[in-house]
Amino acid sequence: MPEIRFRGAVAPLRRPAVNLPSSVAPMVAALRPEQPLHCLRPATIAAAAAAFRASFPGRVLYAVKCNPEPAVLRALWSGGLRHFDCASLGEVRLVRSMFAEASIHFMHPVKARGAIREAWERHGVSDFVLDSAEELQKILDETGRGSGRLGLVVRLALPKGPAVYDLSGKFGAQEAEAALLLRAARPHAARLGVSFHVGSQCLEPAAYTRAVALAARVIQAAGVQVDVLDVGGGYPVAYPEVMPPPLRAFTSAIAAAVEVEGLEDLELWAEPGRALVAGGTSVVLQVQHRRGDALFVNDGVYGALSDAGAPGFRFPVRLLRPGGGSAAPLVPFAFFGPTCDSADRMEGPFLLPADVSEGDWIEVGQLGAYGSALRTAFNGFDRAGILEVTDAPLLETPGYQVVAAA
Ligand SMILES: *Cc1c(COP(=O)(O)O)cnc(C)c1O
Repeated sequence: MPEIRFRGAVAPLRRPAVNLPSSVAPMVAALRPEQPLHCLRPATIAAAAAAFRASFPGRVLYAVKCNPEPAVLRALWSGGLRHFDCASLGEVRLVRSMFAEASIHFMHPVKARGAIREAWERHGVSDFVLDSAEELQKILDETGRGSGRLGLVVRLALPKGPAVYDLSGKFGAQEAEAALLLRAARPHAARLGVSFHVGSQCLEPAAYTRAVALAARVIQAAGVQVDVLDVGGGYPVAYPEVMPPPLRAFTSAIAAAVEVEGLEDLELWAEPGRALVAGGTSVVLQVQHRRGDALFVNDGVYGALSDAGAPGFRFPVRLLRPGGGSAAPLVPFAFFGPTCDSADRMEGPFLLPADVSEGDWIEVGQLGAYGSALRTAFNGFDRAGILEVTDAPLLETPGYQVVAAA
């Protein structure tokens, strides 16, 4: 049978086949790109991974869905990251194809049977998350009951919290059910865990404190030994006019909650996505038309800028005009993306020199998380390039800077 191909499959990011300067502004001057150009900062990503690992008192798993670009994964690896939170067979295969020694954890609570089987048999995956008795049964069926090596992690539902992206609606077992699942899973598990996700871009360390307390109640109610506490993702990054508490405020809140709840004997895991990679990619756009204070640019909500659409995120921007910048004062602009959909609009406001005009380039920062990962081929606007640069990110998040060598 012929392999089914998806007609709309998005074009992979392509590296221009020329030698270019390693800094964004001269690179744009040399290349004059008419397609969006993703500027990857491997040093920024490696430093964020190293900073998170130094601050978090446990094991750090990278949530691959946030940005599965191979160059991003390599940068994380060089920052010492060895554990990957995968949610699909595609992610499992990708990580395994790149790193024979990586530890891969399958953290989606609803998996295809074939995906469980292939991950277990062919890719050395032994940790699986679940939030129902049916999923536990599926995992036991497809791994031949785990032959004494199975890690089973029960995902808890959390009440809606303060995070910008609420993740409480879809996954997770309620308190009483979670306790029953822990009891049911215990006899099959070499390693038994509890996990939760407070929601993405969570600005409040206390959200983790409350979630750890809930996990402790569930463990108490289950009355069985639990080996792992996985406090999930959600750690925030800086955006214009959003300066989160430093990383240390989150890792300290988690460590303190673990102690207060008497869970120090458990192995602690975290699953950061956004926090490790957001600053690691900017995208250079070109202005194709200006209408008043709206700029028609060559990427939008169906490309790398989906968070700038309906979710209303603001991103840091700077003008790149080869042969001289602009001394004009900064004024607010909105963007229109290239597709014909009127929803392809980004309100911003994006602060740029008042004389920005057709042909100018704009660098948009903080797009390493849920940016390139969400690109589509809608309307045929899916061509984009990728390059590695040595520039600092457009915005720094407190706590993730390069740690000076001792
Ligand atoms: C998306 C996701 C993450 C990463 O979340 P961030 O907010 O990007 O840190 C971690 N764990 C799970 C289970 C997820 O679905």
